[in-house]
Amino acid sequence: MSRTKIVPIPVLGRHTVNAYLLLGRRPVVVDAGTPGSGRRIHEQIAAHGVDPTDIALIVLTHGHIDHFGSAAELRRLTGAPVAGHVADLGPYRSGRARAPYLATGPMGRLMSRSSKLHVRAEPFEPQVLIDGEADLDAFGIAGRIVPTPGHTAGSVSVLTDDGDLVAGDLVANSFMGLIPGRPANPPFHDDPRQNLASLRRMLALSPTALHVGHGAPLDPDRIRRWAEREDRRLARREAAGRLRVRDARDPARESL
Ligand SMILES: [Zn+2]
Ligand SMILES: [Zn+2]
Repeated sequence: MSRTKIVPIPVLGRHTVNAYLLLGRRPVVVDAGTPGSGRRIHEQIAAHGVDPTDIALIVLTHGHIDHFGSAAELRRLTGAPVAGHVADLGPYRSGRARAPYLATGPMGRLMSRSSKLHVRAEPFEPQVLIDGEADLDAFGIAGRIVPTPGHTAGSVSVLTDDGDLVAGDLVANSFMGLIPGRPANPPFHDDPRQNLASLRRMLALSPTALHVGHGAPLDPDRIRRWAEREDRRLARREAAGRLRVRDARDPARESL
């Protein structure tokens, strides 16, 4: 089988917020940008020579507004089914991410005050529910969806058979892509320890590159070194009693 090409679709800036177009036997879109970016994503799909009505599936990596914001609009424009993990159904059905956002550092603390983060997306119901690994062969891609919880409970990544990992917010570029190539936490994680465990599980599968929601593609070896440092940083925070984790079972935290 020929190689699955991974094409970044910039939603904001050059790569501040990315969606992705996967070109296999059929095209698949990963993530749906911020609210109101459906047309822009649609146009870019067409600019890559793909008829948007040929899109086989729209995979959402997780229930944050910059990743599912235009899912309903993109579904209308392409007719493609939307796939989302059951653990993030709350955000998809309400059009809002779970509040509060748990900051990973100063950037997140600053951003959590931004009103842009708290806008509402158009609610929708995913046609394809993910609750475990899911093969993408039926949608024309040699690869699979893999649950990678931690950033949110329903976070998933797409791993192609060629080794490309489309990873959502499992890891990001420093300062939302301002320092391209340097791995960093995205501004928020619901459960930093669980996220790091998911990241390491993916690195153990020897991916060739990580294509992330914020920034340029990342080199797995550089992420491995960063993950060691992050492990020690989290251990220090745990020891100091300063590691905040969202209790996924607490329904009161689900905002509507
Ligand atoms: Zn996110
Ligand atoms: Zn994000």
